[in-house]
Amino acid sequence: MSLPARCDVLVIGAGPAGSSSAALLHRAGYSVAVVEKQKFPRFVIGESLLPRVMDLLGEAGLLEAASARGYTVKRGALFLRGAQRCDFSFADQFTRGWDHTWQVPRADFDKTLADAVEQRGVPFAYEHEVLAVDFSGPPAVTIADSAGRTRTVRSRFVIDASGYGRVLPRLLDLDQPSRSPPRQAVFAHLRGDQRKPGPDQNRIWIVTLSSGAWAWVIPFSDGNTSFGVVGPLECFKHYPKEPLGCLRAVIAGDPNFERLRNTEFVFEPRTLGGYSCSVKSVHGPGFALVGNATEFLDPVFSSGVTLALESANRASKTLIRQLNGEAVDWEQDYAAYLRRGVDVFRTYVSAWYDGSLPEIFYGTRTSEPIKRMICSVLAGYAWDLGNPFVAEHERKVAQLARLTA
Ligand SMILES: Cc1cc2nc3c(=O)[nH]c(=O)nc-3n(C[C@H](O)[C@H](O)[C@H](O)COP(=O)(O)OP(=O)(O)OC[C@H]3O[C@@H](n4cnc5c(N)ncnc54)[C@H](O)[C@@H]3O)c2cc1C
Repeated sequence: MSLPARCDVLVIGAGPAGSSSAALLHRAGYSVAVVEKQKFPRFVIGESLLPRVMDLLGEAGLLEAASARGYTVKRGALFLRGAQRCDFSFADQFTRGWDHTWQVPRADFDKTLADAVEQRGVPFAYEHEVLAVDFSGPPAVTIADSAGRTRTVRSRFVIDASGYGRVLPRLLDLDQPSRSPPRQAVFAHLRGDQRKPGPDQNRIWIVTLSSGAWAWVIPFSDGNTSFGVVGPLECFKHYPKEPLGCLRAVIAGDPNFERLRNTEFVFEPRTLGGYSCSVKSVHGPGFALVGNATEFLDPVFSSGVTLALESANRASKTLIRQLNGEAVDWEQDYAAYLRRGVDVFRTYVSAWYDGSLPEIFYGTRTSEPIKRMICSVLAGYAWDLGNPFVAEHERKVAQLARLTA
């Protein structure tokens, strides 16, 4: 579909944050267009979802389309360190919410969401790249097609959902260094994973490695399994430098990966570093940032798509109120809300890497009621202030770490 010359809202990026923003705004009666640099389906990492995603897809009217794809159902997560195990089941949660979600090949998932929104009449311009923006008056966005021809789209508002492309942070000088130390990920999809038949055969595994890194194992319903290793840069000194050798060495070096020993790589393993990022502000006159264009912490608790959808949901609702003529306070109504959830996850990510959270997980002194509260954070219910491990996240995690040390 071609781009209109004018619309109420221009969305940059057709990932989960972009598609769900477009769905919500379209449903509220506003004209929306989506501009996307790549051709879909396209690969992107970030395949393990959290139950909170189901609420957010439901609100955007996208749950049905995703359900129809038959993705692997994710009912919890299993953390492993040598022979130690810590199993979280989303059925055993403090917060009342979904007890499952999915493990999704993102190429398929993102295309499914985008197609569902396009079918409602929202124009998506693929292989069109945003090059420049002008916010000196009503927003004007310069877009180039794949042949290099440029044009300008005018709108009342721009939502930047460009993920790692970070379009507005770059163009408006909003980038700010992340507080997280630099980490790296090496990952691929594997064929031939010997899954042990039983109720846990499709469980996502997060395996703590002796090098200080950790690895994920995410089984998909098409038989392939996503496998990746993440850690501070110094951990990678223990493995061959080239990605294939690195992943092979990780698989050979831990008995937990016995099931992966005879696998083939579906594509050349990829390396991604320096992915943690932050911004000075997530909104400004005429624009808001959503999803990974705002801040990205770390993959360990699979919070990326949840935060992408949560931010898209909140920003779109704030914008709908503004377009309806209400006075809105973007700092309070959007930025502060988003920060609350991001800060909760930040506490758990920091405690994971400083070693205190693994001790809590693998130790035997964490009571079931506390485990249920932590499970709700891991399910993405990071805004439930009724949960002490959300409301007082820093204090509670530090206190528990002292008790379990
Ligand atoms: C190693 C690793 C593992 C991860 N694992 C998980 C996980 O298990 N679970 C999870 O939830 N998250 C995970 N994440 C995070 C996840 O990848 C992101 O949080 C998620 O993809 C964000 O979605 P989004 O919609 O904001 O952006 P994206 O999905 O990145 O979409 C942005 C879109 O914008 C487009 N775009 C970029 N520039 C332009 C431009 N100039 N013009 C037009 N379009 C443009 C891009 O082509 C892209 O399609 C992981 C991240 C890393 C680094």
